[in-house]
Amino acid sequence: MRYQSTRGNSPQQSFLEILLGGLAPDGGLYLPSHYPQISKAQLDSWRGLSYADLAYEILSLYCDDIPDTDLRALLRKTYTAQVYCNGRAADSAQDITPIHWLGEEQGTRIGLLSLSNGPTLAFKDMAMQLLGNLFEYALKRAGQQLNILGATSGDTGSAAEYAMRGKEGVTVFMLSPRGKMSAFQSAQMYSLQDPNIFNLAVGGVFDDCQDIVKAVSNDLPFKAKNQIGTVNSINWGRVVAQVIYYFQGYLLATKSSNEKVSFTVPSGNFGNVCAGHIARMMGLPIEHLVVATNENDVLDEFYKTGVYRARKSAETLHTSSPSMDISKASNFERFIFDLMSQDGQATAKLFQQVESQGGFDLSKDSVYKTMAKYGFRSGRSTHENRIATIQDIDQRYGVVIDTHTADGVKVAREHLQAGIPMLVLETALPIKFEETILEALGRPADCPKGLEGIKSLPQRVVNIDADVSQVKSFITDHVN
Ligand SMILES: *Cc1c(COP(=O)(O)O)cnc(C)c1O
Repeated sequence: MRYQSTRGNSPQQSFLEILLGGLAPDGGLYLPSHYPQISKAQLDSWRGLSYADLAYEILSLYCDDIPDTDLRALLRKTYTAQVYCNGRAADSAQDITPIHWLGEEQGTRIGLLSLSNGPTLAFKDMAMQLLGNLFEYALKRAGQQLNILGATSGDTGSAAEYAMRGKEGVTVFMLSPRGKMSAFQSAQMYSLQDPNIFNLAVGGVFDDCQDIVKAVSNDLPFKAKNQIGTVNSINWGRVVAQVIYYFQGYLLATKSSNEKVSFTVPSGNFGNVCAGHIARMMGLPIEHLVVATNENDVLDEFYKTGVYRARKSAETLHTSSPSMDISKASNFERFIFDLMSQDGQATAKLFQQVESQGGFDLSKDSVYKTMAKYGFRSGRSTHENRIATIQDIDQRYGVVIDTHTADGVKVAREHLQAGIPMLVLETALPIKFEETILEALGRPADCPKGLEGIKSLPQRVVNIDADVSQVKSFITDHVN
């Protein structure tokens, strides 16, 4: 498989060649040169495979520069019930992403696809754990080292740290805004004692952390000398790893491949739902892909109107589903490339317009009429909706859901169709956003077994000013 840039002006590369990098040289994002097609017979033949072996069937189509036996071993090492059991008995975790059916509504079944039973209790573990093993493998093969620099407001940073801890050849420098994350989230990150993980608590807000990462990354000589890389959401390895659970969810929800399923995805940077789009392009019988946003509704606006209007950072609202607080959706360009019939020049023009004019309008473009065939639907949810949904799901079904999943359930209910099961992607567990659960239910969220004492563990974190040169010298002193 070769990978092309969405801006059509970079040489095609292989999976391992793009694995450790970020954007393509022309500023685009990588996508496969074609989407492998899965027939219904093939899909049915995958029923009953373990998650790791299902992952192998899918990923072997995308990473043919990793020998089969190595790929299978990597996947079996990654997707184990022990890693994804989150305090439950390992034998109830064999499916890795089991469906938690809530019940019948409007003539169909609605359920949660459980993606949050990995080490950091959010769906980002699904892809990041694999990335950790892939990075270690690729670096070893190339005889290289990598220093990952990132900024986090919570979920991404902790998923990256738990994926990279103890990995040979990798060191992580993670900037987080001091005192701005939930107590559980900071305890999760700062309690890691691994010598290859450095938590830098920056005196500032998340945007300051992100600006420092940008400034360091823009210093190309420094970046090259210190072998700096990132694991942000545009990484193709993360997107393709997420394709697997759409197949798993579909197979668990159906008996035959003549049936259809819809998915609702709580969305921010469009990484998760982009994987759903790719699964659908491969032939997975998905009826609708419902994009759920919070008050930061740039994606809902696009699917309703054809107008993409990126927000300025100052316009980005801080909400109670913070992992969906985005001003522009970094993976969205991948869908637009497909919508533009994979015309890289046309895509480049649109995203140059995002830079120069803040957005683009496809409502009068002929491609807008082709939108329907991609099956997208959308909706938005607010703090009040979130609270009401958390209360309702608790009362009706006795299940406590987190704030992001609540946005998903709220929007999913607006798109139910009789006879077509609806799976809402559960993107985090409620304990991560305990303040809002307390507000909604008047009682705290349950803490998964084994994590009760996490807030009192010793912490390994370095305080640092929001200052590029201080961060640079810390990196120089600690790179391997
Ligand atoms: C990252 C995240 C999201 C958004 O996912 P995208 O891939 O950025 O669309 C939603 N919910 C939670 C809990 C997250 O951590």
